[in-house]
Amino acid sequence: MRSKLNRREFVKAGTAAGLAAAAPVTAFAQGPTMMMQSGSRPVVVASGNGQQYKNGGDKTCVETAFERMTKGEDVLDALIAGVNIIELDPADTSVGYGGLPNAEGVVQLDSSVMHGPTKRAGAVASIEGVRTPSLVAKRVMEETDHHLIVGDDAQRFARSMGFKIEEDLNTERSRRAWLEWKRRTDPLHYLDPKKKQLALRKVDLEMMAEGWVDPNHFYGTVNCNGVNANGDVCGVTTTSGLAWKIPGRVGDSPILGAGLYVDGEVGAAGSTGRGEANLYNLASFLIVEGMRRGLHPKDAGMEALKRIKANTVPRLLNRRGDPSFNVNFYVVNRKGEYAGVTMYSSEKNRVRYAVCDEKGGRLEFADPLLQGDPAD
Ligand code: ASP
Repeated sequence: MRSKLNRREFVKAGTAAGLAAAAPVTAFAQGPTMMMQSGSRPVVVASGNGQQYKNGGDKTCVETAFERMTKGEDVLDALIAGVNIIELDPADTSVGYGGLPNAEGVVQLDSSVMHGPTKRAGAVASIEGVRTPSLVAKRVMEETDHHLIVGDDAQRFARSMGFKIEEDLNTERSRRAWLEWKRRTDPLHYLDPKKKQLALRKVDLEMMAEGWVDPNHFYGTVNCNGVNANGDVCGVTTTSGLAWKIPGRVGDSPILGAGLYVDGEVGAAGSTGRGEANLYNLASFLIVEGMRRGLHPKDAGMEALKRIKANTVPRLLNRRGDPSFNVNFYVVNRKGEYAGVTMYSSEKNRVRYAVCDEKGGRLEFADPLLQGDPAD
């Protein structure tokens, strides 16, 4: 990425970072002393799968991103290298290759990237046939004057950029899960809409309980955000979106301000969970704006969750009158303070998110707005 910056952009990026580029680049295992010279403490935060999958390698997404970033690689390049591990790993059924397909059995992917120092962004939605949509989103950012390219045209764009286009991104596992879903839901298409909604939800819950679908990856995505010692802030979100979605449905992940928002002067926020709730509130933008007003990442995240809760329509409320879905945010500010927040966490299902800093990669518990389970 850095090699792609022209001189003007490079100077601007340096200025945006307070010309702290003079501060030495921090090596992976170095202590915090050097990191504090620029006032930014390097950290990478991500959804929980950021510390789960290795695709046969020896490092997770956040560990890879942190190591590359602190060795001096551009922050966005480092984050994308991290999420590529998950996109390529067939074991994660919520992102990239092997992501759960749409209602017609086709894997359609969404992704967005934002580069804080240069104020640039790119995204793709409903793209088929490319395992790493985050890299295509990056090419949209680098090569075009646009922020979002969708559907068949996103695939054509990827082809013209030299990406390999594959016939099908299903794995044996995702195809079998889809077949099972189809088998269970087809007879229900003749029900009245309300009954159908309940019946579909019942099928989803049964399939999770029986192990067809990982409960954490029915909704699922990876969002990964980081800041280096220079205060360069970037973020990336990549997903196969909601399992069994209507073909062409686009969630929050590729939409700037929803699935991801970065302001190089302030910080970054990104999301996993029910994309529609996030789209309606542009919550990642809201969180970054909260941090701009001086809120800590956790408080900014809580503010956005409260907004989502307040805007939830009656058909999406549970028996307690609270949202019947979960949604999570991963937040970092330019100083390197961070948080993971979630609408719900319970003893039974404590939501965790991935962090990597000088202490290494780990999972931490997300702070919930509500205790319990969305379905209760
Ligand atoms: N937010 C994603 C979407 O709505 C899905 C997820 O994170 O689970 O497409």
